[in-house]
Amino acid sequence: MTIVGHLINGIRRTDAERTQDIYNPATGEVSKQVAIAPVAAVEDAISAAQAAYPAWRATPPAKRARIMFRFKELLEKNADTICELIGEEHGKIPHDAAGELQRGIENVEYACYAPELLKGEHSRDVGPAIDSWSEFQALGVVAGITPFNFPAMVPLWMYPMAIVCGNCFVLKPSERDPSAALYIAELLAEAGLPAGVMNVVNGDKVAVDTLLSDARVQAVSFVGSTPIAQYIYATATANGKRCQALGGAKNHAIIMPDADLDNAVNALTGAAFGSSGERCMALSVAVCVGSETQAAFITRMKQAMAPLRVGACSDRKNDFGPVITREHQEKVVGFIDSAEADGATIEVDGRHLRVAGHENGFFVGATLINNVTAGMDSYRQEIFGPVLQVICVESMRAAMDLINDHEYGNGTCIFTRDGEAARYFTDNILVGMVGINVPLPVPVSYHSFGGWKHSLFGDLHAYGPDAVRFYTRRKTITQRWPSAGVREGVEFAFPS
Ligand code: NAD
Repeated sequence: MTIVGHLINGIRRTDAERTQDIYNPATGEVSKQVAIAPVAAVEDAISAAQAAYPAWRATPPAKRARIMFRFKELLEKNADTICELIGEEHGKIPHDAAGELQRGIENVEYACYAPELLKGEHSRDVGPAIDSWSEFQALGVVAGITPFNFPAMVPLWMYPMAIVCGNCFVLKPSERDPSAALYIAELLAEAGLPAGVMNVVNGDKVAVDTLLSDARVQAVSFVGSTPIAQYIYATATANGKRCQALGGAKNHAIIMPDADLDNAVNALTGAAFGSSGERCMALSVAVCVGSETQAAFITRMKQAMAPLRVGACSDRKNDFGPVITREHQEKVVGFIDSAEADGATIEVDGRHLRVAGHENGFFVGATLINNVTAGMDSYRQEIFGPVLQVICVESMRAAMDLINDHEYGNGTCIFTRDGEAARYFTDNILVGMVGINVPLPVPVSYHSFGGWKHSLFGDLHAYGPDAVRFYTRRKTITQRWPSAGVREGVEFAFPS
């Protein structure tokens, strides 16, 4: 059986404390195994990165960017292979995998712009014959720890910019679908990146804890669930590291009585069920303002859901695939059970879906739950499955209170034709990424991505301009070259 290993100092290795099964979620069968790195392998990766750092830091930014140009071309050339790897291990259908990869490539494109982003700030004559400037210097060895749901894109949020800024990187991808990240890292070597600048270790908590405790690692980027994000942030910062830790989500869409309902229903169908709802920007709650809006929304939503096709990624006509594991399938079904037990109405039930020819796959059908209330477990917690819950409130203010009171603040959107309402919403909603008639307001690569509240721990968001700040340290230099013969006297006052 294939063992998915590590890439350390440019060499594939399979050091393993033990191995863990990788499933094909569409068949439910074990397809490969992943090597779970022991501490020594992670330390080797950190050592390789540390050794590569001086030469890489000294490489001019334009040369580093040129490697990213070639990397982008290789990602495009090998897109089909990458999407197949994503499909085999994550279960994502091909056009969804291609969309994920495209968003990742856009981060590489932005990283190509690094020489401009690293130019710094300069002020001449801040005093007599004194000039001052700030420059942005690399940190050293930095690490990334990523989730299963975007096996290509989320790592690409991190290391292209980290590397182009002059750092060396150790990536710990999700052990549930690790192959895409490993394959992509090898493309970086093909693009001309020196060995050791980019390393991948596969593993679990042992690998993560090694990265968090090793003094040579200067900064940690994490994306995953909120409890782990909290742990990563607390541990990394306690160990003196810079950290950004992006967590879970519960994204609400407000449907106003004046909304273009066809647009809202189309948008929500894709945003709630696309990728089986396993997106941190998935819309999982529709908040209808007024009972008439609710009734019309439920009717149209049921019509939109009727033709949805769920199945394996091998059939391009499918709309979405399985969830990641049997355990996760049971968790999603458990949340639907709990909503029902709490008195919600199951309008469309995906619990008993059987996909012909894939009876053992980890499928959950698209599910619509009506009459949900704020106290229900299924509302408070992140389900991370193809489940849309509907809540009815009396006013826009009540809808906003619901969102602002929720633990998570990743993404949200409002469907309305009223510009004043939309403006009030964007001004006052406590969420990091906001859409107006846009269901998945994922920022483009030259903005930054991040939620509020328990959706992000740390100060700087992922990718975009914030990534340049996260992966560099500001240094401000002030210099004087007085003209020959000019001497100033001793001055005891604070320089001004
Ligand atoms: P996860 O938290 O289980 O795992 C994420 C990473 O942390 C993996 O690499 C995993 O190996 C590691 N990890 C898991 N348990 C650990 C532990 N006890 N100690 C140290 N490391 C540990 O998340 P997941 O299930 O892979 O991904 C889904 C979650 O990620 C969802 O909650 C989703 O909302 C979130 N997510 C958030 C964003 C965002 O931008 N905010 C983006 C994508 C996914």
